[in-house]
Amino acid sequence: MSHEDFPTDEPTVVTCGLPYANGDLHIGHLRTYVGGDIYSRALKRLGQDTAFVSGSDMHGTPVAVNAEEEGVTPEEFALRHHEQYEATFPKFDVEFDNYGHTHDETNVETTREIVRTLEEEGYVYEKEIPVAYDPEADQWLPDRFVEGTCPYCGEHARGDECDEGCGRHLEPGEIEDPVSAITGNPAEYHEREHEFFAVSDLQEYLSGFLDRLEGTSNAQNQPREWIEGELQDWCITRDMDWGVDYPGDEDLVLYVWVDAPIEYISSTKQYTDRVGSDVFDWEDAWRDEGEIVHIIGRDIIQHHTVFWPAMLHAAGYTEPRAVMASGFITLEGKGFSTSRNRAVWADEYLEEGFRPDLLRYYLATNGGFQQDVDFSWAKFRERVNNELVGTVGNFAYRSMLFAAREFGGTPDADLSDDVRERIEAAIDDFRAGVNDYSVRDIGESAVRLAQFGNEYIQKHEPWKLDDDDPEKAQVIRDCVQVATAVAVLFEPVTPEAAEHLWEDLNADGDVHAVGVEAALDAPGGEFDEPTELFEKIPEERVEELNEKLEARVAEATADDESDDSAADEDSDDAAADLEPIADERIGFEDFQDLDIRVGEILDAEGVEGADKLAKLTVDIGVEERQIVAGIKQLHDLDSLPGTKIVVVANLEKAELFGVESNGMLLAAGEQADLLTTHGDAEPGTKIR
Ligand SMILES: [Zn+2]
Repeated sequence: MSHEDFPTDEPTVVTCGLPYANGDLHIGHLRTYVGGDIYSRALKRLGQDTAFVSGSDMHGTPVAVNAEEEGVTPEEFALRHHEQYEATFPKFDVEFDNYGHTHDETNVETTREIVRTLEEEGYVYEKEIPVAYDPEADQWLPDRFVEGTCPYCGEHARGDECDEGCGRHLEPGEIEDPVSAITGNPAEYHEREHEFFAVSDLQEYLSGFLDRLEGTSNAQNQPREWIEGELQDWCITRDMDWGVDYPGDEDLVLYVWVDAPIEYISSTKQYTDRVGSDVFDWEDAWRDEGEIVHIIGRDIIQHHTVFWPAMLHAAGYTEPRAVMASGFITLEGKGFSTSRNRAVWADEYLEEGFRPDLLRYYLATNGGFQQDVDFSWAKFRERVNNELVGTVGNFAYRSMLFAAREFGGTPDADLSDDVRERIEAAIDDFRAGVNDYSVRDIGESAVRLAQFGNEYIQKHEPWKLDDDDPEKAQVIRDCVQVATAVAVLFEPVTPEAAEHLWEDLNADGDVHAVGVEAALDAPGGEFDEPTELFEKIPEERVEELNEKLEARVAEATADDESDDSAADEDSDDAAADLEPIADERIGFEDFQDLDIRVGEILDAEGVEGADKLAKLTVDIGVEERQIVAGIKQLHDLDSLPGTKIVVVANLEKAELFGVESNGMLLAAGEQADLLTTHGDAEPGTKIR
């Protein structure tokens, strides 16, 4: 990677994938926005000049289709959702420096300007292509107005995206067996002139770009397969009314994926217009040497790592420095289903009286950013009670209460060297989290520091020391400093609790504006007894919330069953929870190449320094094997010895965190449900 570590001298734009203006937000949607907000706050904390922007995606066929069903104009329909999103984000302390939408004047103008530049630079050409057409409705069928079969994987797909199969972007005319979504009749392909963006001319550029790109590894690696084959040019116009008019043909609008990412630029422009270019200059960022960081869901990696950088490069704009693509979020191990009301809605979460900090913490730290995260009220309660209340809240409260009672605030003593070093290490962890694009590491730097604080106060037991013992003042002085540092480092994840702690500390300045170095500033003098930062969630609340969810799902399912037309949607949803079966069949010989054996776990321990990895000693009959598996947080390691498992014995050896892994155990799903035998097959028995 060729980029200098953050903080750099260049202006930075952090963007979040635009929410599409056609439905309510549930907590799964919030993952990207919370992640973006944390990341941008963390960058600002490091002193990086940062603008955090996004906007609502207003165009495209789903809005047009839904508006038509509701009998309102697409603009009315999309604006209503836009306003709802704009109001919801701040309630979760997701504070964009600018939040616009793709239908506003700035974006329409910027989009036209960029398309004109692409034309001038020779990247746009006209071509006749087959476009789906519904003869009965006498209407062209762009994107979602047509459904059919994906030519790549054979799954059922929509006109522009294979959303249930391989996930590929589909060009007009590509979908097989097209059916009109308006009338349900087979569609016809008619030849029609459309505009194309010559992405294939930029193949070499894109290959170099991917070498430079930072962010999560899924965003760096997945696009390789797309650009290494034959790169297809991209049809950028559609036959419809709703969208940004294509300059030059009034019957066409630009494809929604042209004007949507351009909103990142437009939103930054609006921010500059509001605060002045001396505060933040959008042109420095987007046309010069800016650092552009895109935070998205992993379903739109292709758009952000192929089409978008191609467009930026061809039009003379700054290429992205990094793309962070988050995993999906499940609810109790299954997909969210908006049609079956199987979701925890954003508004509902707040109406239940939960503070935004709790969800922010859960979403940010429950797994790596690119991993899928499962939400359940039980796990939510566990993490709030153990980590926020038990670790962070407990440390802050007990140390400051003691300081207030015994010293009326910060004792008069110097910070000890050991504690200074520990805080410096936490700052380094925080900075490394930013440079590794790991929202979780950013959040954990503060929690681990609070954990240290708890151990420190426990070890020194200041309550046992005499009032005139200088160690007493020293220990409490150290603890107040650790509490100050926790407030500074935890602010990106839990801004509300950080502010609360800052006020309790009677500290100077605004905790949302201070730099990371404020963690080591001498804490303010006097303060009163603190109040609790977080409240425990009682177990009954979890039962109550689960019952509510179940009742609602049952109600929605009953509604569906009384409505014939919903039957299809229902089965689609169920199928969408599971990956489709791989299309390609393998021969029996391929299977026979695998040497799969019954094993018995003899010993299991965590791999030091790795959050997820466990080192297992496994008896596979012929010998004992050491196997490393990502199950540390998913299983109680102490209870594993004696468990029968299934092992691929002839897999190449691998080294993980410096530990050799000789074989692989088989497990099902995100929770790594271990495969075992039904009867009493001995270790070493071959599986066939
Ligand atoms: Zn497909």
